[in-house]
Amino acid sequence: SFGDAEAEQAVRQNDRQYVFHSWSAQGAIDPLPVAKGEGVRFWDYAGTEYLDFSSQLVNLNLGHQHPGLVQAIQEQAGRLATIQPAVANDVRGELAKRIVEHSFTGARSVFFTNGGADANEYAVRMARQHTGRQKVLARYRSYHGSTATAITMTGEPRRWANGVIDANVVHFEGPYAYRSAFHAESPEQETERALAHLERTIQFEGPETIAAIVLETVTGTNGVLVPPPGYLPGVRELCDRHGILLICDEVMVGFGRIGEWFAYQAFDVRPDLVTFAKGVNSGYVPIGGVVISEDIHRTFEQRPFPGGLTYSGHPLACATGVATFDIFEREGILERVRDLGSRVVEPRLAEMAAKHPSIGEYRGRGLFWALDLVKDRETREPLIPFNASGEAAAPFTAVVNACKAAGLWPFAAGNRLQIAPPLIISEADLVTGLDIIDAALDVADGYTTG
Ligand code: PLP
Repeated sequence: SFGDAEAEQAVRQNDRQYVFHSWSAQGAIDPLPVAKGEGVRFWDYAGTEYLDFSSQLVNLNLGHQHPGLVQAIQEQAGRLATIQPAVANDVRGELAKRIVEHSFTGARSVFFTNGGADANEYAVRMARQHTGRQKVLARYRSYHGSTATAITMTGEPRRWANGVIDANVVHFEGPYAYRSAFHAESPEQETERALAHLERTIQFEGPETIAAIVLETVTGTNGVLVPPPGYLPGVRELCDRHGILLICDEVMVGFGRIGEWFAYQAFDVRPDLVTFAKGVNSGYVPIGGVVISEDIHRTFEQRPFPGGLTYSGHPLACATGVATFDIFEREGILERVRDLGSRVVEPRLAEMAAKHPSIGEYRGRGLFWALDLVKDRETREPLIPFNASGEAAAPFTAVVNACKAAGLWPFAAGNRLQIAPPLIISEADLVTGLDIIDAALDVADGYTTG
């Protein structure tokens, strides 16, 4: 409980003594002991309150301790806490049915995994088995998870120290109009030139060697990059022309983040495989999965699928997934995400951009936005260099610290403040968070030179 210094000390001590943390030099970290979470907030042991604009790791779509999710776990635990994957189970089947019914035309079945990375592993394995081809094309500025093929597909610095684990992964650049790799001067040009670049990559790699193109429908951690009009349909067209499968990684943006069940539904594109995790049950119990098209499903109708997991379709996780569908419908989550995004967030960011020279560009959709912070608006030089840390990242760290000091837990990535609160956030809390960011940007403005 709050103010219990002894309890805090014990948590800290066990953590530092025994817990090995992700992505970190173990001797260089001091993780915040968290005492409690409720809705869009969490608290440390001193009672310091944080408004969570990051939804933890962009997974907590329904917030902490949602009564519907807690109840689903309690009821399922009382009924049947676990059962192995080779049997049929009621909540597992119900969740698969709901997901397929809310998916693309031609979606047939769901393979459940433990999280997002292994969902991508299995999607690629299915694509390779189905096509008999080995290569996969993935984009720079992407994160697909930390397991073998997923980390190799990842197109950003977290891959570097891992080397190349899967030799059959090739990277290409996607559209990013604000920092165009193609010298484009309009979204139309960006689409056209990004597609031409992808087509050249396919030609050089050998179309008949490529099993799949894997992409985040809306790029998440690497910048909230919303595809420009025509890009995803263009990728689909290239896939169709060459017998290549399209895998949409919806681990971060599926289940309401941009105001759709799945983000591809906003961009007029039909995938062959879709990976999901995080928002499917807000991470209350680990789960991810792959939505599989009829065509690919049929490949494994007679021939066994060579893969599986002990916890595939875990009942506690599936029960919270089913409850998530009920809650989304009951609380009108998709509608409120669209409304809050367009009515509250977007105009407010436009207002901020007009007064803060440190905002190079703001972009996003629904409750998923990024502020691309710059040192100089003219040159678009980022506020801190690519992959900066320590002293070189100081201007950005100062902004993040200003947010935290004012009670906001931001989603910070590279030179970007990203906005990804739980989808249940009230309008008042959303405005409070935006007020805090607005004030913190004064700190960023102090580093601009333009
Ligand atoms: N794909 C995307 C787009 C993600 O954002 C993430 C996690 O952040 C993953 C895959 C990996 O998911 P997990 O951490 O559950 O393995």
